[in-house]
Amino acid sequence: MQTDCIFCKIIQGDIPSTKVYEDDDVLAFLDISQTTPGHTLLIPKKHIENIFEYDDELASRVLTKIPMIARAIKQSDPAIKGLNILNNNGEEAYQSVFHSHIHFVPRFTRDNDDFSMHFTDNSAKYSATDLNEIAAKIRTNLEV
Ligand code: 5GP
Ligand code: ZN
Repeated sequence: MQTDCIFCKIIQGDIPSTKVYEDDDVLAFLDISQTTPGHTLLIPKKHIENIFEYDDELASRVLTKIPMIARAIKQSDPAIKGLNILNNNGEEAYQSVFHSHIHFVPRFTRDNDDFSMHFTDNSAKYSATDLNEIAAKIRTNLEV
């Protein structure tokens, strides 16, 4: 836990988030920017800054959850045809929150969204109700 970290505050429940999955080691929740609907972040509960700080044990507790989250997102909406999984490490690589996180960005078509490593902020377009509906569909499809 790092006191000035926004994702640690989300883990603690001090900042609200729309949760998709949680266990002892990880939390998955909707990215506030919703680059495309269903854009999700997977984070370790242990505060580490980036991929360079994982040891093998933490990697096996956290990164093995990627396929399960990916499948749940894919199955949450038949319109989702593909999924980009991205992980930015360092400011130069467009990391803006320095608590390690994996992005899951559903792809509906190749060209109907403005997509780059520097994610589009669509947060103003989504109400709390919209986010809850998206997250509920993903949660329903988790294999847990
Ligand atoms: P990065 O730029 O570090 O790869 O990604 C950080 C992501 O965190 C961004 O896509 C941004 O929208 C998301 N983000 C930043 N603050 C919050 C927040 O308070 N809540 C949620 N749900 N996502 C956040
Ligand atoms: Zn943190």
